[in-house]
Amino acid sequence: MSRSAISFDNSYLHQLPARFYHRQTASPVPAAELLLANTELAAELGIDSDWLQSPQGIAVLAGNALAEGSEPIACAYAGHQFGNYNPQLGDGRALLLGEVIDIHGRRRDVQLKGSGPTLYSRNGDGKSPLGPVLREYLLSEAMHRLGVPTTRALAAISSGEAVYRERALPGGILCRIASSHIRVGTVQYVASTGDEDALRQLLDYVIARHYPQASDDAHPYERLLDAVIEAQARLITHWQSLGFIHGVMNTDNMLLCGETIDYGPCAFMEAYHPGTVFSSIDRQGRYAFGNQPAIAQWNLVQLAQAILPVLRRDGESDLKPAVERAQDSLNAFTTQFFASYRQHMADKLGLSHADEADQQRYEAFLQQLQDHDCDFTLGFRCLRDRAAQAGGLPIDDGIDDLFALPEAFNDWLADWQQRLGQDGMTPAQRDTRMRRANPVFIPRNHQVEAAIAASYQGDHRRFFALNEVLQQPFDYRPAWREYALPARDEERVEQTFCGT
Ligand code: AMP
Ligand code: MG
Repeated sequence: MSRSAISFDNSYLHQLPARFYHRQTASPVPAAELLLANTELAAELGIDSDWLQSPQGIAVLAGNALAEGSEPIACAYAGHQFGNYNPQLGDGRALLLGEVIDIHGRRRDVQLKGSGPTLYSRNGDGKSPLGPVLREYLLSEAMHRLGVPTTRALAAISSGEAVYRERALPGGILCRIASSHIRVGTVQYVASTGDEDALRQLLDYVIARHYPQASDDAHPYERLLDAVIEAQARLITHWQSLGFIHGVMNTDNMLLCGETIDYGPCAFMEAYHPGTVFSSIDRQGRYAFGNQPAIAQWNLVQLAQAILPVLRRDGESDLKPAVERAQDSLNAFTTQFFASYRQHMADKLGLSHADEADQQRYEAFLQQLQDHDCDFTLGFRCLRDRAAQAGGLPIDDGIDDLFALPEAFNDWLADWQQRLGQDGMTPAQRDTRMRRANPVFIPRNHQVEAAIAASYQGDHRRFFALNEVLQQPFDYRPAWREYALPARDEERVEQTFCGT
């Protein structure tokens, strides 16, 4: 390559101790084919789209060539998986190619996922079937369009190689972008070595990269803990407001930067039920929809535990005061969670603020959805259309044919309409908020699975079409009706699987 096509600016491996990572190269693949490149994201990253889609660009995305300035590493991390601590995880099927500074001046990781074995692969092959690559592309980009902090997808590659799971499947590679891939599990890994200097180095790095305001404080690590707790409280409320079920909230799948990561067994809920679980390996329902806030807090406790030695202030002879301060920080999660959740409730209901009574109103609506087996997404979207009509505003063409709330909702609706009348927003202001809070298109599991199944047969049209729909989640189009509808009984996908 002549001029460097991606302007790498790598800090993780240059600023942190060598045992945090392992230098590694990707395994070449026989017949790389670019299925989809995210040209808009490429532009944001300062990467030339033409180059990205050229044979040289595809070779880099497939791990067959090294871009100038790229210093690939597999990162070490540990983590609690389903509550059990595993001291040795790490990038077993991923490689950090390097970092770039995007056009907004933000540092972003460029990672390949499915690029072959690493020091941390244990018994795994380091590869990924194409299905999980397409799933992550669709889901992470949909989440981004829905406004949720998330890792992004820069490109999906078909490797031309068979990957063996229960059967031979076409292989794939995803190029993933993140504000960073530093996980709660990364901190746990470093903390478990007992090397406090290394732990400080990692935390200083995280502060400089993600939470620079913490460094102004006399106790930067305490402020870092607070900032991560707040970012997670916000993230999880956003998930709850959309019916998103992550499915594998292990501590290695929680990023300190507060972006959603790991789209393995995730799925959006259709009929509302807080106990909903999709993941085939989540037999106890640990990561069920309604458990997500409590699990996030549990993960944050593990983070606090890991950094406890450096939370001790000068002159403190034991850890007790540090534990008490950490406990206060962790308790704030609940307050922040409800403050943020209430704002989502207000937006979804079309109110400027939600008070205690509105929270009960919201919960009563959820209960009705549950009692009548109603689709979460369409149920809320109906509220937007009703509010628009009541305010004399147009609704999207054809949307009233999509779904109707059963008559049993009438009392609830009458009470809500009355409440809207007491709120000061204009119909137009209300509509803007409600539209963005109540999408009409979400990545429905049966659609995602159908796209993957077609791609396994070599036909990628469903994948492209679904991706296009998910780029515009808030505006209904009759031509896209099937994408807005919940699965019929025979289409329903009951289980999702990790990408392993
Ligand atoms: P995940 O389920 O993606 O969060 O992965 C958990 C751990 O297993 C991480 O350390 C992964 O890198 C590793 N892993 C998952 N799949 C594979 C694979 N096919 N080969 C090697 N390591 C893997
Ligand atoms: Mg993971």
